[in-house]
Amino acid sequence: MTGWTWTRSSPKAATDPPVPWTIVPFSANFAANNMWGCTMSTGFFFDEKCFWHAGGNYAFTLPIGGLVQPLNGAGLPETQETKRRLKNLMDVTGLSDDLDLRSAPEATREDLLRIHPASYLDAFKAMSDDKGGELGRNAPFANGGYEIAALSAGLAKAAVETVMTGDLQNAYALSRPPGHHCLPDKPNGFCLLANIAIAIEAAKAKRLAERVVVLDWDVHHGNGTEAIFYDRADVLTISLHQEGNYPLDTGGIEDRGRGAGLGFNVNLPLPAGTGHTGYLHAMDTIVLPQIAAFKPDVIIVACGFDAGAVDPLARMLATADTFRQMTLRVKAAAEQHCGGRLVLVHEGGYSEIYVPFCGHATLEALSGSHKSAPDPAAQAFAVRQPGPRFDAFIKAEIDYLASQL
Ligand SMILES: [Zn+2]
Repeated sequence: MTGWTWTRSSPKAATDPPVPWTIVPFSANFAANNMWGCTMSTGFFFDEKCFWHAGGNYAFTLPIGGLVQPLNGAGLPETQETKRRLKNLMDVTGLSDDLDLRSAPEATREDLLRIHPASYLDAFKAMSDDKGGELGRNAPFANGGYEIAALSAGLAKAAVETVMTGDLQNAYALSRPPGHHCLPDKPNGFCLLANIAIAIEAAKAKRLAERVVVLDWDVHHGNGTEAIFYDRADVLTISLHQEGNYPLDTGGIEDRGRGAGLGFNVNLPLPAGTGHTGYLHAMDTIVLPQIAAFKPDVIIVACGFDAGAVDPLARMLATADTFRQMTLRVKAAAEQHCGGRLVLVHEGGYSEIYVPFCGHATLEALSGSHKSAPDPAAQAFAVRQPGPRFDAFIKAEIDYLASQL
């Protein structure tokens, strides 16, 4: 439960004087509520089945075979463990108690068809009903993977819908498998369905939103989301990512959209080693002004935690506090420009140790909860941030990117 409620006792008789309004606290989480103490709160959409998604025969990102020996335990870096440990940490600190925990139905075939062609969905479903397999690149799935992917998209869809209807102030969807690399007809990079795009189109079909910002701070380029909305002026896509990471052939500053969509795609390829100061500089000098100029109805964050300092799939130096500060900034932007309507949808993040602390800080900021999980690596990562000369270089790179928009 969250917030405060306003109550007033009924006068015992018509002749009694009016009883003054009093404030009755039922939790410390005032920030997530509106001034009248209504039930506006932060939703957290998750489902145990999403933890059961399983990839295939990989040792990390290398297919097993030849000289690549199978690993004991996990194969692909995208496992349930990062997500499950985040939820576990939230349960242990009590943060979960301050959120509105929900699941959601699977996204329907009609929902999926707004983004994906029937030929892909049919092939995916058939392989899923059999033994599972691989239809794209680094995006394997097991038997039943289709339904789990549809559920993952359904969590994102429900999160957006409930925020747009005013049922929730803002929301987080712990979607798994992730979605931002998935192309309409081809799964890619652990992503089987384009969760955020499916959620946007579902909201549009119900006329719940017109103008949408997708801010992708996963450390990899959100190439799938970009491709889906590349010709569109109603969805502004912004991706902060490590330059030259994944995919290698997309994510350049020069890719600004096409036709009606020209100017509504913003890629910010950041140097490897970008840390806390650099990320916040990019937010303040480019991302927030872009959001302000666009005037969205809702902001959706493709929320990966793989810019974290010890992520095995990237070389950035973001910390839990970086994610906290970015969340506070985008939350303030949502409050300023779109009534606070903000949805974060989980993407990547592969450090089983660090993702839970980054996620916890993010959800603290999103909800305003005071249930904290102090970052046990804060000091270790603080002293390993870029020094003044490299920070100046990173800022200059970001300023160069800004000059190209
Ligand atoms: Zn990623």
